[in-house]
Amino acid sequence: MDVGHGDAILITSPIGKTMLIDGGLAEAGDSVAAFVRSRTPAPLDLVLLTHRHADHLGGLGRVIAHQGARLFMDAVFPHPSPAYDALIRLLAERHIPVREAERGRVIDIGGGARVVLLTPPTPLITGSRSDANANSVVTRLEFGRVRVLLTGDAEAVTESWLLDSKADLRADVLKVAHHGSRYSSTARFLSAVRPSVAIVSGGPPTQVGHIHRDTIARIESIGARLYRTDLDGTITVRTDGRTVTVDTDKAPGSHGVQARR
Ligand SMILES: [Zn+2]
Repeated sequence: MDVGHGDAILITSPIGKTMLIDGGLAEAGDSVAAFVRSRTPAPLDLVLLTHRHADHLGGLGRVIAHQGARLFMDAVFPHPSPAYDALIRLLAERHIPVREAERGRVIDIGGGARVVLLTPPTPLITGSRSDANANSVVTRLEFGRVRVLLTGDAEAVTESWLLDSKADLRADVLKVAHHGSRYSSTARFLSAVRPSVAIVSGGPPTQVGHIHRDTIARIESIGARLYRTDLDGTITVRTDGRTVTVDTDKAPGSHGVQARR
């Protein structure tokens, strides 16, 4: 979803189960809630928080208050804030169970689709540029031959940890880490993922540390087709397990790619 600066990703499985990964800034909450409502009247089956920064958790309270949720999976790395406390209070009031996002969890979302948690790193990364970012929950969505890698705000140190973990990182679609900043998306990581489609979620490149031209150049150099929510609006990726099609708000007309595995 185009939420300005931030991430908000809605996954709908072949049997209609829904999973929301992050919810943008607080001011994006109403539009994220409206988008979710436009796709399903039912409570979200799962809400996953990649890490506890405001541009990922801020809007979740509004969405959960409007839509409801059956399960909340929380990023484990602590990052205290009044917004986080309010979200946890809301979950308690609504009797929504909370689980920790642990590496290795496999979430069956139905119809043959599943989500595998590749991080947080164990042990947790400390002493990095941003430990909250570095311990982002990175997930791999799998359906048929298609893989989608969703990296939250993972840092270069996380990418290096993932490469060392021997996780299968190859993916057709990559949600680029940390809004396309220069602190992630190392050449080594990108060449391991080798995506056909890369998506940057973020606002206009006015904020220091986000959507950096060097990162864009690295993504383009591996031959991925780049989409950006700041330019393309909300981006919709569909797959039948073999082919991936991409539609955007601002440039309708599907772009299709074949899964490479
Ligand atoms: Zn962020």
